[in-house]
Amino acid sequence: MADSPTICVTLGRERLHDLLVDHRRLVADGVRLVEWRLDWLTEPIDLAELFAKQPGPVIVTLRRPEDGGRFEGDEDGRLKLLREAMQAGADYVDLEEHAAAKIPRLGTARRIVSLHDFSGTPADLPALHARLAALDADVVKLATRANSTHDNTRMLRLVRDSRLPTVGLCMGELGSPTRVLALRCGAPFSFAATGAGAPLAPGQLSFRDMRSLYRCEQLSPATEVYGVIGAPIGHSRSPLVHNPAMNHLGLDKVYLPFLVPPDDLPSFLDDAPELGIKGLSVTIPHKESILASITDMDPAVRAIGAANTLVWKDSRIYAYNTDQQAALDSLAAATGQTTAEFRGRSALVLGAGGAAKAIVHGLRQSGAEVIVTSRTIERAEELAKAMGCRAIRWEDRHDGRPNLIVNCTPLGMSPHVNATPFEAGALKPGMIVFDTVYNPEQTRLLMQAQAAGCTVVSGLEMFLRQAARQFELFTGHEAPWQIMRDALRQSQNPGA
Ligand code: NAP
Repeated sequence: MADSPTICVTLGRERLHDLLVDHRRLVADGVRLVEWRLDWLTEPIDLAELFAKQPGPVIVTLRRPEDGGRFEGDEDGRLKLLREAMQAGADYVDLEEHAAAKIPRLGTARRIVSLHDFSGTPADLPALHARLAALDADVVKLATRANSTHDNTRMLRLVRDSRLPTVGLCMGELGSPTRVLALRCGAPFSFAATGAGAPLAPGQLSFRDMRSLYRCEQLSPATEVYGVIGAPIGHSRSPLVHNPAMNHLGLDKVYLPFLVPPDDLPSFLDDAPELGIKGLSVTIPHKESILASITDMDPAVRAIGAANTLVWKDSRIYAYNTDQQAALDSLAAATGQTTAEFRGRSALVLGAGGAAKAIVHGLRQSGAEVIVTSRTIERAEELAKAMGCRAIRWEDRHDGRPNLIVNCTPLGMSPHVNATPFEAGALKPGMIVFDTVYNPEQTRLLMQAQAAGCTVVSGLEMFLRQAARQFELFTGHEAPWQIMRDALRQSQNPGA
């Protein structure tokens, strides 16, 4: 096997025939290592048949239910099968601690001595590692549940500092980035799901994402790490636009989604340099709370009270807000007017959260007369007071006739695509309607506005512009605009 990091696809099938057929398909797709989860087979485990037809290098695993597997047979029978697999030609065999203590080195099979902890990440990982390594291990594998983002840091530190090849992964959504970053820290391989059906381990990524999106086989300790932090984070499109752009320019950088619960934010920022992080996008719920941890901020961030971009330079963290300029540029591009031409125009902003703050600030700077409305009137009043404009009650939003309406609420966002923050009957010809929601691109509000003769501005434009500006702050390179646009469109319509 080559020295570059390897993505091992975990394959669990009930029928032996299906296991071999799917393994062959994976080899054709370029998969270099497959884990046979023999505990998934519901028919007799015929090792002679399997190894006679083995399509490529394998790790043989036969887990008991207490270790997260499905093997229901007796323990002596399990150990016998593992011994036989080692002699039959397995490239690796996965031996839990107690099995490794009972099974000697046999044949040419390399010994992965493993430990799984589905409840948490033990405090003394180096001691645990030493215990497993002492069982004649060629590779130590630790898979533990991350209960905090700091568990990931401790696990990756172990992988980086171990002299024996070590696969250290944290399970669960919190731990998901370790499946990529372990390879950056020197793990010989990491595990991926086939992509078809549910992953076999919690937080596992698909082979396709690990290979094509995160380019795991090219990772090295020199690879710079970027990402987006938020909670929840699974829906974020940012990795889908930043990674193709980095790849297009041949940059040794990777961009990952990091689930960071509010309580973990300070420790995650402390750990960021050790994780190799050089820049982050920031999304809900951290855009405002992040300012408490940052001292170096762009004047716009201070004025808006929210940041969506962090850049590490010389051990300092700099905060930026690319939403404001992205929104103004999107408006200018769609209307053919410069932002100076917004002076004196009336704008109604729906919502009073992070996006609204950036847009109200930008519009005020351009000289527009802004009215803010929000479901929670206190938030609208607070924002209006800070920006020198007026707040109205949510129920009164249809009463005026503004030149511009901007939706800064999530109403209309997938999957609630039939929702809209503004009644169609109140949309008038000549109005400019800007929906910051970008998934779907054509929201109900925009479709109704178009039908009413309004000029429409899509949130997709704003999303791309804020991402492009972030990319420039992260890399110093001009953003490959078309690559990012195509990647985002493709992610919205995967079948297209
Ligand atoms: P946020 O800080 O959570 O603020 C959301 C705002 O929407 C609040 O004023 C909230 O009112 C209001 N709201 C939420 N659910 C509502 C409902 N069912 N009915 C009426 N009002 C509701 O979020 P944000 O960061 O400002 O983001 C808001 C939206 O902007 C996102 O969903 C996203 O689609 C969009 N966005 C787009 C871009 C882009 O680049 N295109 C960038 C950032 C954001 P309460 O205070 O009463 O909860």
